[in-house]
Amino acid sequence: MAAEEQQQQVYRDTRQRQHTEELTKALEQEKNVLEIIIENTGVQIAYLDPEFNFVLVNSAYAKGAGHIVEELIGRNHFDLFPNEENQAIFKKVQDTGKPVEYHDKPFEYKYQPRRGTTYWDWTLVPVKDASGRVQGLVLSLVETTERKNAEHNLRERVKELSCLYGIVSIADKLSASINELYQDIVSLLPPSWQYPEITCARITINGNKFETENYQDTQWKQSSDIMIYENKEGIVEVCYLEERPHIYEGPFLKEERALIDAVAMHIGHTTEHKRADEALQESHNYLERLTNSMWDAVFSVKMPERVIEWANDSFRLIGYDPEECVGRTTEFLYPDKSKFLDFGNKIKSAIAAGRDILHAEQLLKRKSGEVFSAEITTTIYKEKGEVVRVTSIVRDITERKKLDQLKDDFIGLVSHELRSPLTVITGAVNTVLTEAERLSPEETRQLLRDAALEADSLSHLLGNLMELSRVQADRLLLFAEAISVKKVIQDTIEEIKRQSSAHQFVMDVPRELPPVYADELRMGRILYNLLENAVKYSPQGGEIRVFVKPGEEHLIIGVSDQGIGISRADQAKLFEPFQRLEDSRLDGINGAGLGLSVCRKLVEAHGGRIWLESEPSRGSTFFFTVPLSHS
Ligand code: ADP
Repeated sequence: MAAEEQQQQVYRDTRQRQHTEELTKALEQEKNVLEIIIENTGVQIAYLDPEFNFVLVNSAYAKGAGHIVEELIGRNHFDLFPNEENQAIFKKVQDTGKPVEYHDKPFEYKYQPRRGTTYWDWTLVPVKDASGRVQGLVLSLVETTERKNAEHNLRERVKELSCLYGIVSIADKLSASINELYQDIVSLLPPSWQYPEITCARITINGNKFETENYQDTQWKQSSDIMIYENKEGIVEVCYLEERPHIYEGPFLKEERALIDAVAMHIGHTTEHKRADEALQESHNYLERLTNSMWDAVFSVKMPERVIEWANDSFRLIGYDPEECVGRTTEFLYPDKSKFLDFGNKIKSAIAAGRDILHAEQLLKRKSGEVFSAEITTTIYKEKGEVVRVTSIVRDITERKKLDQLKDDFIGLVSHELRSPLTVITGAVNTVLTEAERLSPEETRQLLRDAALEADSLSHLLGNLMELSRVQADRLLLFAEAISVKKVIQDTIEEIKRQSSAHQFVMDVPRELPPVYADELRMGRILYNLLENAVKYSPQGGEIRVFVKPGEEHLIIGVSDQGIGISRADQAKLFEPFQRLEDSRLDGINGAGLGLSVCRKLVEAHGGRIWLESEPSRGSTFFFTVPLSHS
């Protein structure tokens, strides 16, 4: 039994040993696999004992720390890489047995300051024994410095880009003034530099300064010249208010140099554009003011659309608001479609003939519907051989046409009025000359009397014409003095009497009259014109009365007749030159339409006024006032 038991014991021992060997082998194998994994991972791994001495590190860790594996094993982590904050974390994991995990945690190597700030993702996991006591710590690290830097750089580039983008968008703000633009741009600069909180900026241009509120001139400054049309006209400056580590240009990045240069260049270009815009706007305003101050309506038609794109204020003179013209074809300006088409054809022929200016007289229509004569000057604008715009200046020539008409009427009337007395005069004089022997002395006298009368009326007509031309040339001079009107009235009646035997002349003048202050010849002319009319326009004869009523300051002198009279509607226009009433009763009564207008001018030149009272078929009375000599 003992032997059997012994044998069994040996067997059991062998089995046990075999099992242990197998286990050891398997464990060895597992350790190998683990080591291979640890060695070949990119993650930096270290195993530390409870005193934070390195027990095991992989080569990635050693390399990352700037050492070789052998230099680290057995050494204390915090002797090599002192850092109080991290040591406290290690201690806490050790004490609490709870793992920790960090992302992008900054770390500076005390003994390798050149590396600057490094960033790390790391975990620290406690290794515990069966009773839960912490036996050691596994530290795994992945350096994220490069990624962090890349992210930082990306953020910087994004800042620079948004700065430029901001500046470009500001420059596009059409309504802003150039000074507002500079102020907006300067405020965009600090956020685009590395340390916005300590950055200030200033733009100096043409002696004007645009600054951020915190601006201070410091030694940490970057600047770039602003060039406008190749001249230096300003400078952009960016300053740090505190010192920062040296990077490229002092504390500034290479990219910040590029950015400030780009900003300066952009300010230069924007200023050039703005100035050109302002110059354009100014000349546009000038042109607009000019065209709006003209009496002519000016508009421009866009081609080939053929619609009005712009019209000046003077369009109101023909009844239209400029705004209501824009966007329409010009057809509404013409009395009918055919006139519109005719004018279009004139422009077409001008274009075909290679002309770029067209003058034409054309009937147009006001908004009220009234048709009027206009003179149109049309200019044709081409770009690359194509007609792009046609502008027209429209001059309302109604008044000129009226004047032309007046001139024609005048020539017609006056030449008739001149010719008929001349015919009588030459006729009478010739008869006396050729038939002297045959004529009785009485006949000869009569002929000569007729000639003298006609010569008188001719001389009066010429006198009136000359007065009117003096008035129009502003050269009417009065030779006023204290005179008695009574005598003038008497003399004039005597003169007129010779022309007519069909009328009774009555002089109704107070015995005593104060003298008036007047030009004697002109008084005579006024009275002559009124009396001559009284005779002419009462062809049936009748009484012609001249009366005088004294007033405080003046005398009122009146001439009344019992003739054809004048309707109320016609009375207003009689005192205008060349106005003759178109009354059938005037048939055969000659006249140039000058007498009353001359009367008015002369009366007014004396400081008086003239008016009439009349009724058709009941005769007329003309009144005028003359100032008394003492007033
Ligand atoms: P003229 O007598 O040469 O036509 P005037 O200027 O003296 O020119 O008169 C203008 C017009 O006024 C006359 O053509 C006539 O129609 C009207 N008129 C002037 N005086 C009288 C009057 N006494 N009675 C009626 N009509 C008159």
